Amino acid sequence: MFSRVAFVTGASRGIGREIALTLCRAGYDIVVASPEIEKNEEVAEKIRACSGQALTVNLDLQSYDSIKECFATALQKFGRIDVLVNNAGITRDGLAVRMKREDWDRVLQINLHGAFFATQQVLPTMMKQRYGRIINIASVVGESGNAGQANYVTSKAGLIGLTKALAQEMAAREITVNAIAPGFIDTDMTAVLTDELKEKLLAQVPLRRLGRPDEIAAAVRFLASDEAGYITGHVLNVNGGMYM
Ligand code: NAP
Repeated sequence: MFSRVAFVTGASRGIGREIALTLCRAGYDIVVASPEIEKNEEVAEKIRACSGQALTVNLDLQSYDSIKECFATALQKFGRIDVLVNNAGITRDGLAVRMKREDWDRVLQINLHGAFFATQQVLPTMMKQRYGRIINIASVVGESGNAGQANYVTSKAGLIGLTKALAQEMAAREITVNAIAPGFIDTDMTAVLTDELKEKLLAQVPLRRLGRPDEIAAAVRFLASDEAGYITGHVLNVNGGMYM
């Protein structure tokens, strides 16, 4: 009996790290993918301690060559990839009128183009397997919009569009494609916000607290499971009621 294999981008910290550990506890072997080897290894050690196999790859989603190489390495080691979690993402916030071209390009390149080219690497294998789960970590703002984040919002709205297009294209091969739209989650990404801004944001959250990475990871575990086999093209809000 083989283990299922999950490839998680941005697995070095935050939500991605929690997804990698949660899927490991659910019995998957894990490819821990992010740019820095030491951080990946730290997560891989934890996975091995919970008796899963872990492979680390130094993935830079800004580089097409890096994407190709990392997926080729994963396929060489495991011979299959059952679950791809496109989790890696960055912000470079600023008002549109002053947004620098490099901040626009970088966010689109990592959050959207990177996710697409990563997905392209797994499709032939998943099609051959006639099995696959692709889970894109979008954002509440990809649905609601947000001032000061034109680049990030565009990348996440694009990811939601990509989810729906691919869900239709891949359904006949038993590959499901879904998105999760987290609200305001307690990670490094939100740690940089001022207390004043946090308070303002929390006032918009009916559950009146930040979400936790494990609450996103639990949604990923469900969408990756056999029980979720009839769900595709869906955007699952995990946002404390912030957007309905
Ligand atoms: P985070 O703590 O900032 O972690 C980001 C992850 O992405 C890190 O593993 C980072 O690697 C990796 N990464 C950055 N640049 C990369 C690149 N060029 N290639 C590959 N990986 C790269 O973020 P997070 O809060 O966990 O967010 C995870 C996902 O959830 C993102 O897509 C984010 O947009 C989305 N999200 C987050 C929130 C929130 O409130 N936190 C809300 C909605 C959606 P390094 O460690 O090497 O930098």
